[in-house]
Amino acid sequence: MKKSIRDIDVKGKKVLVRVDYNVPINSDLKIVDDTRIVATLPTLNYLVEHGAKVILCSHLGRPNGQADNKLSLRPVLARLSKLMDKPVSFAEDILDKSTSEMVDKMQDGDILMLENIRFYKQEEQNDEDFAKTLSKLADIFVLEAFGTAHRKHASTYGVAKHIPAVCGFLVEAELRMFDKVMHNPDKPFVAILGGAKVSDKLPVIEHLLDKVDTILIGGGMAYTFIKAIGGSIGNSLVDNTKVELAGKLLDKAKEKNVKIILPVDNVGAKDFSEESETKLFNSAFFADDYQGMDIGPKTIKTFKKYIKKAKTIVWNGPVGVYEYEKFKRGTNKIAKYVSKSKALSIIGGGDSVAAIHSLGMAKRVTHISTGGGATLMLLQGKTLPCIEVIEDI
Ligand code: AMP
Repeated sequence: MKKSIRDIDVKGKKVLVRVDYNVPINSDLKIVDDTRIVATLPTLNYLVEHGAKVILCSHLGRPNGQADNKLSLRPVLARLSKLMDKPVSFAEDILDKSTSEMVDKMQDGDILMLENIRFYKQEEQNDEDFAKTLSKLADIFVLEAFGTAHRKHASTYGVAKHIPAVCGFLVEAELRMFDKVMHNPDKPFVAILGGAKVSDKLPVIEHLLDKVDTILIGGGMAYTFIKAIGGSIGNSLVDNTKVELAGKLLDKAKEKNVKIILPVDNVGAKDFSEESETKLFNSAFFADDYQGMDIGPKTIKTFKKYIKKAKTIVWNGPVGVYEYEKFKRGTNKIAKYVSKSKALSIIGGGDSVAAIHSLGMAKRVTHISTGGGATLMLLQGKTLPCIEVIEDI
């Protein structure tokens, strides 16, 4: 078990909180969705109420180590100040001595936000001196950015070597949920995997074979598996370098008595486009000039049956080309069934999370993970480097 802010005394302490305020911002520099800011409020309120001096650090977008006005955290500062109903001060240049002077003047309960940490190339390089400079601003480090916990950057990893490090409430909740499903899941445990990159998901499947009862596979990654069993995939997405491994995993699943369910029917399109004409194809008879874009109605029905019986569900990746209206039916149906289920459910990965949100059903899911890559690492049974450096209880 890792320490959280509840396990330490923060009164009068300078607390550096690494948050994930990488929110969508439009061309007028307006925040389109403030979910990630709102999600940190319990941690921030706790720290403020317990008399900490809160120093916030985040990245926004990909400035590649260069200052870029369009990627400034100033719009986030304004929104946070409104949400917290208190002034939040801003430090333009982390390396300038004016920043440490601002920190020295902070009173208990004050909040200071640092400018986009990725304006410095040293951040993603996990530069030792940069991490040290950052750590000198504070007495305690709090990791509240689960989405970047798999990356060894200066503000997520390096800094924790110099000052005591603990989790914020968001990271604590993520770890608790994944710990439960990976070590003590209620059965039947059903994993639903989709998306395009089969290479990302094969290690996940391999690890899950010792945990789950059933794996439902959809999306572009399904065609590598369908090819492995000698099915017909037409012009569908396939990773030919992974067909053999996919076949081996199917054999291994049989040995371990785990059911891997592949699509039996698919919505095919001539081109990868919304305008393309579509046809339904059985996975045994695909036309050469069509590609699979979504799971078909028979597959949806089968997936529903397993989802309904599940007591634990983990879902990562859309089961079709969710970005196009025409091919989002399968993903939306899965989102509906998962949200209606009484199982403990975890959804991770941008598209599956977006599907649940667009249906307004997010509140009915046990846990919506804020991590994509981090989630996949935990599902592979790996530990996250930025969690490893956090103190144990
Ligand atoms: P990933 O990053 O691997 O989770 O993949 C997410 C992407 O998979 C989304 O952009 C989907 O459009 C894409 N996807 C889902 N189903 C298919 C499919 N049948 N063919 C190609 N791409 C797909």
